[in-house]
Amino acid sequence: MQEESNTSIFPQGEKITNGYFTGDAFLRILQEKDKNNNFALGNVTFERGARTNWHTHPQGQVLIVTEGIGWYQEKRKPAQVIKKGDVINIPEGVEHWHGASADSRMIHIAITNYQDEENVTWLQPVTDAEYNEVDKK
Ligand code: MN
Repeated sequence: MQEESNTSIFPQGEKITNGYFTGDAFLRILQEKDKNNNFALGNVTFERGARTNWHTHPQGQVLIVTEGIGWYQEKRKPAQVIKKGDVINIPEGVEHWHGASADSRMIHIAITNYQDEENVTWLQPVTDAEYNEVDKK
């Protein structure tokens, strides 16, 4: 694996193997949902070209980009570039994906709110055709 910098705030964590990501992505859980915090807090590292599946969050999600350059796209909208320092406030129920660009890894903190015991509904993969369409711009 190519190491692009050693400036990451948090350890990389474990490789995500749940089948809902394309490419190499890693999760470091920072805080689990508990009696006071109705969200999960995690640090997600996307290597070049890695991205989530399309998905929704029942009570929304906030992303804080801490390193690199990537993409955030809501269904039927143009993808937007996201980069270190950006904060993305994702509304509840909106189908979207996030991930690295083709030539830079991207790391974000994710704050993902729960509705009861669910905080994400996974959908179909972001195909190479969909990804290449946004990343060629
Ligand atoms: Mn999300």
